[in-house]
Amino acid sequence: MQFIDLAAQQKRIREKIDANINAVLEHGRYIMGPEVDELEETLGEFCGVRHAVSCASGTDALLLALMAHNVGPGDAILTSPFTFIATAEVISLLGATPVFVDVDPSTFNIDPQRIEPALSALKAGDASSHPLPGVSGLKAKGIIAVDLFGLPADYDKINAVAKENGLFVIEDAAQSFGAQYYGKRACSLASVACTSFFPAKPLGGYGDGGMCFTDDDNLADVMRSLRIHGKGGHKYDNVRIGINGRLDTLQAAILNAKFDIFPEEVSLRQEVAGRYNEMIAQGRSAEIVLKTPAIPSGYLSVWAQYSLLAKNEDQRSQIQNRLKDAGIPTAVYYPLPLHLQTAFGGLQYRNGDFPVSEDFSKRIFSLPMHPYLQANEQQRIVDVIYS
Ligand SMILES: *Cc1c(COP(=O)(O)O)cnc(C)c1O
Repeated sequence: MQFIDLAAQQKRIREKIDANINAVLEHGRYIMGPEVDELEETLGEFCGVRHAVSCASGTDALLLALMAHNVGPGDAILTSPFTFIATAEVISLLGATPVFVDVDPSTFNIDPQRIEPALSALKAGDASSHPLPGVSGLKAKGIIAVDLFGLPADYDKINAVAKENGLFVIEDAAQSFGAQYYGKRACSLASVACTSFFPAKPLGGYGDGGMCFTDDDNLADVMRSLRIHGKGGHKYDNVRIGINGRLDTLQAAILNAKFDIFPEEVSLRQEVAGRYNEMIAQGRSAEIVLKTPAIPSGYLSVWAQYSLLAKNEDQRSQIQNRLKDAGIPTAVYYPLPLHLQTAFGGLQYRNGDFPVSEDFSKRIFSLPMHPYLQANEQQRIVDVIYS
């Protein structure tokens, strides 16, 4: 069994993918070819956002968004410690400092109630009310909220507290392209949103890719310039320091083919997740009581991962081993919260600083999840869990 069955998807659209790749080989515009414009137009419209700026990866999308906000040394960017390294890595890469805020126990996303206390602690330089990094003289500049496992964060609350405090908000929608929040699509929920086309993401290519979304004309212009070495009027007019962050035409051609069936795949993902919820509730045993994902009303998750909480670390490894023996792959997202990663040792966070994230990292695990997972396969997975 595959954790994510990309071959099942390819079977459906192989002809279109071949045709799209061939078209690029014919016209030969491998860099910023017409397929890139087409993808930007399609996805921007799908998300209901004026500007879609494609780029080389989800990580570059976050980097471009932070650079467009002039983030640098002395700036504090609030974010979740329970996410993939890229979310906070780009903050440090620019010389700014991640200030972590623990997650909501029911959604795995940044807890909006904890943002204001974090800002007050930062302003007062007082780590007794909220754990702070060991870096002095920081000033809060923005928030990166993450839509973990495909479920949007609570942007009404996050945007409100950001506005009150003069902060920008970036939506890390690497896992949530296709999700919804009170009728609005993911990638339209903050001043800039960033997604990823890494093959395992809900809309994945056959390599790296990413996209920034914004309604702000100026931010869009700056990000378009930054992704091509800070270009001005033409290629050899450089008006700012940028990066080589373009999306390959070939990846855009592949993504155009994949997008044709994407809305249908989002529906299929709902069915798969719904079946897991039911089967896991029915299979409940005295020893094993798993917490299934909670989707608040008004939200639509795109189920980048189907993640469960076991009772404790031991029970998690028991279940994972049992599944492994039956040939069923599982994964742990994420085994170590970012504040405890060696790479962030310089921030001097400690064990115990973010107890919700630390607890989840010991108990969480993810089951195979993709649009083509069949009911009988899911029943087998659930039977093995409770066996
Ligand atoms: C995958 C991911 C990224 C980075 O995307 P890449 O395309 O791999 O660079 C950033 N943030 C989150 C939450 C992700 O899951």
